[in-house]
Amino acid sequence: MTYTSMDNAALIKAAQSILTDDIKHLQIMPEAALKLLKLVNDDNVSIEKLSRVIATEPVLTAKILKQINSAAYALPGKTTSIKHAVTMLGLSTVRQLAITQLFYDKLIQRDTTKSFNLLFFWKHCLYVASLSKRIAIALNYPDPDLIYTGGLLHDIGKLVLENYGRVTYSDFIDVINNNKHFFIEAEERRFFGITHTEIGHIFCLEWQLPPSMTAIVTYHHNPPDRASPYANFKTEIAIVALANYIAWVQGIGSATYVSHPSQGDLFELIDIDALNLDALLQQVDQDMRSTEEFYDIKLQDLTTLRASVVKATINLRQINTDKPCVPNPTPNKISSSCLTTPHHSLDPNEFIPQTLEAIHDEFSFDHSILFTIDPKHRCLMASHWWPKSTLSTQQPLMIGINNISGLLLRCLREKIAVIINATVEPDSPLIQQLKTTEFIAAPVLHDNHLTSLLYADYSLSKHPIHEQLRLDIMPIAAELGFAMFNAKQYRQEKKRAQIDHLTQLFNKQMIHEFLTEIFQKDKPQRTNIAVGFLDIDNFKLFNDTCGHQMGDEALKIVADILRSLTRPGDFIGRYGGEEFLFVLKNTDQAGAYRYAERIRVEIERRGKIMSQRFQGLQLTISIGISLYSQQYGHYTDMIEVADQAMYQAKKTGRNKVVILPNLALANS
Ligand code: GH3
Ligand code: MG
Ligand code: MG
Repeated sequence: MTYTSMDNAALIKAAQSILTDDIKHLQIMPEAALKLLKLVNDDNVSIEKLSRVIATEPVLTAKILKQINSAAYALPGKTTSIKHAVTMLGLSTVRQLAITQLFYDKLIQRDTTKSFNLLFFWKHCLYVASLSKRIAIALNYPDPDLIYTGGLLHDIGKLVLENYGRVTYSDFIDVINNNKHFFIEAEERRFFGITHTEIGHIFCLEWQLPPSMTAIVTYHHNPPDRASPYANFKTEIAIVALANYIAWVQGIGSATYVSHPSQGDLFELIDIDALNLDALLQQVDQDMRSTEEFYDIKLQDLTTLRASVVKATINLRQINTDKPCVPNPTPNKISSSCLTTPHHSLDPNEFIPQTLEAIHDEFSFDHSILFTIDPKHRCLMASHWWPKSTLSTQQPLMIGINNISGLLLRCLREKIAVIINATVEPDSPLIQQLKTTEFIAAPVLHDNHLTSLLYADYSLSKHPIHEQLRLDIMPIAAELGFAMFNAKQYRQEKKRAQIDHLTQLFNKQMIHEFLTEIFQKDKPQRTNIAVGFLDIDNFKLFNDTCGHQMGDEALKIVADILRSLTRPGDFIGRYGGEEFLFVLKNTDQAGAYRYAERIRVEIERRGKIMSQRFQGLQLTISIGISLYSQQYGHYTDMIEVADQAMYQAKKTGRNKVVILPNLALANS
């Protein structure tokens, strides 16, 4: 599997035969990049040396000078000296920026519509590099820059194949996409006769890179054995392998196809629990954003899963592979796309049908169905199926738990996959309802709790279901279970990020998202909207008199009233402090006014009821409203006018509603 299966000479021969030019003549990386790569491991690298290398590359020089002269560094005068810039930015930062830039210029920045998406790949490399470095720092590894570069380079073999292969990496991806079932390195060997890690290995040797870096490139999928000259670099390899895995979990794999990166027992060397993954991921988010700025590129969809999800994925992956009841799949089986498809997305409505389709393709089932367990109604309810004609959407299939007996009950209780045959259990409700003579059912678990049931049959082709299938289906159900768990976690985390903790209303971020969406829509959609700003009167006094905790209570009361008096399609959120914002759709001036008055009156009324607890203070609010007009180019204009209207309400006595229909009025 690893390059040790061939000696270097054989590898070079294999590589030579598939590349367009002599390995020695291929100018894969600019000279400057190679020099910088070698400098990385050199503790004595001087500012002088580094500056000289950088100065040979005009684009790079310009970028670094731009960076140092940006507002962030607030230098008194303009810096035009690269040496000065290097001193100010720091050796480590500059080296990192330089290497990344040179790679980008030479290897990524090509106009391509090929299947191997270079920009997507670049995002992967940057993410792995940045996360590897953060992990290295967290583990007190002495040379985090080396790890960064190793992370950046780890998949260099793929780039070489894409840019200089007689058949390219894009060609390869076209082929594997068609056949769907793959185990990446085995497929590469079948296709190119050599893997991307082996190609990478040869070029690391050719460029005389430090052995630690070569080790990362060569072994990030499979650790070196004890006798290997690279056995000492297991920590370096493990760090990049872990970062690579986390990138994959987050949907930032090296290509848009998804293959489960096999890591063997690579990250056993790292105590994942001791890493503060949450903080690390947030830092990487920031790194990625500043990278985007520096290189003036937009790396789309930088969504980051929270640490809990990533950790759960890593842990469950270990549990899954440890489980004795799950047969160790052969390499061909593990390559099955059924195992990776559940991780294609975090939206169950995407990945569940895709997984059912993948199962259908792999095992040629006639029908496959996922039943979710509905504890409230005590039933199994068909939620997804393949092919589409299996069930009707109008009348989804429901099976009462009380009607389940025999083997299917055993499947649910003991959490094992079962094959049920009509000759043995003719009364089984699934046999009856789906008119089949035999089916297989596998429990979908999360954390050993049953969440769903995977069903499949050969009711049309009448193939018998063999015992082996029962064993094959269990790891797939396990992957599905843990993808469903990830999706649930993701949903919860996302919701948490949208909701204000105290009032449980949407937060400011969501207010902006909601209004952005409305303003992106066609004009007719926004012509009838109103934006309102609501601010509690004399709240400072309220806090000072009744205490902060009572102030919090008052905020919750206002939020509750807003919730209870707002129509479902409209929007309410906490803008900050004691300020709230609402957006009303399909309304006119009179309608908006009526709504605001209802809120105002109800809060005043509730305040009176509570006046004793509020030490005689009134709980009142002022509301300012703006109505949409052609003049508003952007939703922030509407918020601003609503704010001005609110200010007028305050100025003219508080506890009232003021509407400003347009900007001209607001400015008068
Ligand atoms: P006005 O009628 O002009 O709006 O007067 P005000 O006192 O309400 O206005 P100001 O904006 O000066 O004071 C707002 C106060 O709201 C100050 C701040 O301490 C308080 N506040 C902001 N957020 C919270 C919170 O989460 N809980 C509590 N209890 N108080 C908060
Ligand atoms: Mg205020
Ligand atoms: Mg106030």
